[in-house]
Amino acid sequence: MYPTRTFHLDIVTPDRKVFSGEVVFLSTRTVEGGLGIAANHLPLVATLDIHAAALHFPDGSRKLVSVCGGILEVRRDRVTILAEAAELPEEIDLDRALRAKLEAEKALQKARDVEYTRAELALRRALVRLQVGSSAEGD
Ligand code: ATP
Repeated sequence: MYPTRTFHLDIVTPDRKVFSGEVVFLSTRTVEGGLGIAANHLPLVATLDIHAAALHFPDGSRKLVSVCGGILEVRRDRVTILAEAAELPEEIDLDRALRAKLEAEKALQKARDVEYTRAELALRRALVRLQVGSSAEGD
């Protein structure tokens, strides 16, 4: 059954507020796995993975947001994502994300150790941005 009760969601980065509003469901991913949050979820603090979070609205529409790591805090009827970087679909520069993807793929072919991990993370950020940037509203 589609949830109807809303809760307040804020998505902020160190620079700016990316989203603030009422949602009925948040589909997100922590480093330990996928997590769905509806109103009245138990209080929680978790480390977020690089992923496309899905915001579900009372009218049944959905919006993807790219979230590049950070912290999730769930309090009663108030949820905050403090992301290292986050973007709405319309904010994403797809050409830039594609360039970042190609650069990361190139780096992965010759990089080792820390550089490999860095390139891998850059590739994951680029892929999430490509996914979110290509998603239409209500997708
Ligand atoms: P790039 O190599 O393109 O800079 P990156 O993954 O290194 O990508 P980040 O360090 O994660 O970039 O982000 C730096 C800032 O740039 C953040 O404010 C982020 O929101 C923004 N940003 C990164 N990539 C894009 C993009 N493709 N479109 C819009 N904003 C982006």
